[in-house]
Amino acid sequence: MGYVVESLKQLFGKAPARPDSAGMSAEARAVHQAKKRQPLSKEALEAAHAEHRARGGNHTWRNRRWATLIGVNLLFVISYYFDVQLVEGALTAARVVGFHFADLNASLQVTLAFREMVLNLMIGTATVTLMWWLLGGRTFCSWVCPYHLLAEGAEWLHLRLVQRRIIKDHTFHRGVRTLFYLVFALLALATGYTVFETVSPTGIVSRALIYGPTLALVWVGGLLLFEIFVSRRAWCRYVCPIGVTYGIVGTLSPLRVQYDVTDCHHEGDCRKVCLVPHVLDVTVKGRAASLRQDLTSDCTRCGLCVDVCPTSSLRFKVKGADKLL
Ligand code: SF4
Ligand code: SF4
Repeated sequence: MGYVVESLKQLFGKAPARPDSAGMSAEARAVHQAKKRQPLSKEALEAAHAEHRARGGNHTWRNRRWATLIGVNLLFVISYYFDVQLVEGALTAARVVGFHFADLNASLQVTLAFREMVLNLMIGTATVTLMWWLLGGRTFCSWVCPYHLLAEGAEWLHLRLVQRRIIKDHTFHRGVRTLFYLVFALLALATGYTVFETVSPTGIVSRALIYGPTLALVWVGGLLLFEIFVSRRAWCRYVCPIGVTYGIVGTLSPLRVQYDVTDCHHEGDCRKVCLVPHVLDVTVKGRAASLRQDLTSDCTRCGLCVDVCPTSSLRFKVKGADKLL
């Protein structure tokens, strides 16, 4: 229950809870104290990182994710192009080998706009809810959403420009995403029109890939420019309601990223690569409340932190199964 509440709080913009020593398990307290008594030397830390780099770093999960994301989107394109009818539609609403699939946020928008839920939409929503519950909610963002891949490219450029001090990164309060969530829901209700779908880069890019480019791509280009020159991953961090909807489903999902404080160096490489670094607040020295903790459901399960961690302190896990992935 604590996990669900903390996940929802973080999803809606609240800062992560920071336990005092009374709220900590005895094991976690012992690890924190041992690290305080015998801190890791700078040399040992550098050696561990040099070793990780010498192994070529690790891009296992990133490569799997990119292959999946490109594969899923290509499936729609190929199916339409060759009229296979195996996969029909786009990411917002599709029929896959006869089964109806509907993006959860799009379903919500349609239901609010038309104030009714048609049978196909109900079936599609139920199928997708079950699928993303199993796969981990926001996994949709990093493993399927085509805008995510474009935004990763923009993020790479943004970070290089910041590093060279050509631009500054501007951050905003994460709570604005909740505000946008409510605004888009109210707009659908008030106008009877799925307003968010017209501006959602997920739907625009997905449809452009399948049916060909439209003028709406100019809007997507503008968003990417904003993310390159003004604010890192601004759309996904501060606006997109799709992430919130899938994050809510993900609070009960069995697939999570688990953190183990025992060997962690606390240098924060994981937080530097993360789209939602607040979920990794637990990796800051002295913050872990127990030896092992699951990252909250705002985590997109992208695996970048799992790849970058030199001590394997972050691993994928399926709740209830002993083995980590
Ligand atoms: S969990 Fe994060 S802070 Fe800890 S060792 Fe891994 S990358 Fe570094
Ligand atoms: S916590 Fe790790 S897996 Fe989750 S979004 Fe951040 S980098 Fe990706």
